[in-house]
Amino acid sequence: MVFEKDVSLKDYTTFKIGGRADYFFSPSDLEELKGCFEFIHGEKLPFFVLGGGSNILVSDDGFRGVVVYTGRLNEISVSSSKEGGISLNVGAGSSVKDLVIFSAGNGFSGLEEFYGLPGTVGGATFMNARCYGKEFSDVVSEVVAFDTFKKDVKVLKRDEIFLGYKKTIFQRNVNLFIFEVRFSLKIGKKKKIFEKMNHFIKDRELKGQFLYPNAGCIFKNNREFGEPTGVILERVGLKGVKRGGVKFFEKHANFIVNFDNGRAEDVLYLINMAKDVVYKKFKFSLEEEIGFLGFK
Ligand SMILES: Cc1cc2nc3c(=O)[nH]c(=O)nc-3n(C[C@H](O)[C@H](O)[C@H](O)COP(=O)(O)OP(=O)(O)OC[C@H]3O[C@@H](n4cnc5c(N)ncnc54)[C@H](O)[C@@H]3O)c2cc1C
Repeated sequence: MVFEKDVSLKDYTTFKIGGRADYFFSPSDLEELKGCFEFIHGEKLPFFVLGGGSNILVSDDGFRGVVVYTGRLNEISVSSSKEGGISLNVGAGSSVKDLVIFSAGNGFSGLEEFYGLPGTVGGATFMNARCYGKEFSDVVSEVVAFDTFKKDVKVLKRDEIFLGYKKTIFQRNVNLFIFEVRFSLKIGKKKKIFEKMNHFIKDRELKGQFLYPNAGCIFKNNREFGEPTGVILERVGLKGVKRGGVKFFEKHANFIVNFDNGRAEDVLYLINMAKDVVYKKFKFSLEEEIGFLGFK
């Protein structure tokens, strides 16, 4: 088990923003994971489960608690294969990129849209990540979750997990640690699978998504707004608006990018500014998509 104290979280986030965590655990199996939570409960400390850090903003003051980092829970294996179909068991800390490349290399189809999605399989399951019209709920069959309070392991079926657009049971039960995610995929033609993947990642590159550190869309879309949130933010004139080293991205106003050693307090300022301006103009209440760590 990797156990460290006073760890900078900046490098564990795609925003490249944030202070230090008091404790940092990186378990590599279920026994070690259970050990982490014995420490956490024994010391009565707050905890946070960290995947790829691609959907969170960490406070400049860091986190006075324990970060449980999933990066070493990263095994991928084929559990069964039937005529035309395949099941995979994937550790929650596997990167989505590794999973998609593994699947494509074996001729398994169903994950192509997620090529280019930063972060881990656990984080994408927690969020029900959605890319190019496809959601994680379309390909996940089951999740093995560790209940950190009851200290038991349960297998949850797809229907119990996903509650709609970017909503899952895990967001309501932070005591559930996603340990393994099971996927149901189809057998396909490798060439076609790779072509599709390249198409999607090129689109992201063209949109400049990887040019600056960022955390993807800051706010959720909402059908009631009638338009994507990025368009609404553009309409109220926020594209390119700066504060310190961060700004609303010129290429996509629902991204805030860290162009020069940005600070969390500046990101927060821009978020609150956007909520105010959009509410005053349209009476729409923007809802954050990103999560927050270490704020009072
Ligand atoms: C350039 C860019 C493009 C993006 N494009 C998209 C997109 O097209 N579609 C989309 O949906 N999102 C997108 N995102 C957002 C982000 O990549 C996804 O939400 C991603 O799935 C988050 O995964 P993560 O591992 O980084 O999660 P983290 O940011 O580490 O965590 C997110 C949340 O999940 C929880 N969590 C993580 N792992 C576990 C676990 N094992 N058990 C329990 N809880 C856990 C955390 O506690 C936290 O609350 C983008 C982000 C970037 C930077």
